[in-house]
Amino acid sequence: MKMARKPEWLQKRVNPGEQAGMRALLGELHLNTVCQQALCPNISECFRCGQATFLILGKHCTRHCSFCNVDKSPPEPVDSGEPARVAGAVARLGLSHVVITSPTRDDLPDGGAALYAATVVAIRAASPVTRIEPLIPDFQGDRQSLATVMAAEPDIIAHNVETAPRLYHIRSGADYGRSLDLLRTCRELAPETPAKSGIMLGMGETRDEVVQVLGDLRGAGCGYLSIGQYLAPSRNHYPVQEYVRPEVFDELRENALGMGFSHVESGPYVRSSYHAGQYLADIPGA
Ligand code: SF4
Ligand code: SF4
Repeated sequence: MKMARKPEWLQKRVNPGEQAGMRALLGELHLNTVCQQALCPNISECFRCGQATFLILGKHCTRHCSFCNVDKSPPEPVDSGEPARVAGAVARLGLSHVVITSPTRDDLPDGGAALYAATVVAIRAASPVTRIEPLIPDFQGDRQSLATVMAAEPDIIAHNVETAPRLYHIRSGADYGRSLDLLRTCRELAPETPAKSGIMLGMGETRDEVVQVLGDLRGAGCGYLSIGQYLAPSRNHYPVQEYVRPEVFDELRENALGMGFSHVESGPYVRSSYHAGQYLADIPGA
């Protein structure tokens, strides 16, 4: 299928030759980033600012979302040395805020929760000033797995609902209600820890559906939100249904703030981890 030409507000150029030092460090430590894996259009800007989203638990996902570029090969063995290497990289890069995420590991009894917790603990030991944000999968709704991650006391917890429930056929294995429950449970387990979520526009959702999702997230105790434009990684992925105009992102930000969200990043190039440090900047004492 021919991909529609991107509008003028989505013409950001990525220079793969930039930030060679950061790329070399990641390669030297055998670390994966979502930035590289997802072909993120913000990679030059984020690497220049020393920001990255680390991908733990391998590069292969057990689910098959049709919008996602993560490799769908059989999952790799858990690497118990990974938390220390991520922590070493965070310290060497002097990151003030780091996002840790993973493919969904439905093959593991705890979904990888113990490695998330170990990574949070290792980063805190190596770099006590760094704010740590696990961006977690749904752990198939397993409360114990979630409790394992929350017990490591991350500074903020994130889980993306991605889109409206009507479109969940593109999120194989996911369940909208379960994702909301997960955010609610995070708040129950650690009421002081802020919860964040993210959605993408341009997948065929209506504005009313977006507003409904925002309301559902607020109802689940989520106070931080990212809204970005979906960009298909290739012509073999779920096609973009709409390039949403920048002013619509602005309106939705105002809408969300009016609904009680504490901080909202909303724009065509926003990703869950884009400007991630800004969210906690709004929290007193953070
Ligand atoms: Fe990486 Fe997130 Fe920045 Fe994209 S927005 S380059 S995934 S840190
Ligand atoms: Fe990608 Fe997450 Fe879906 Fe796996 S579960 S395919 S990592 S969006």
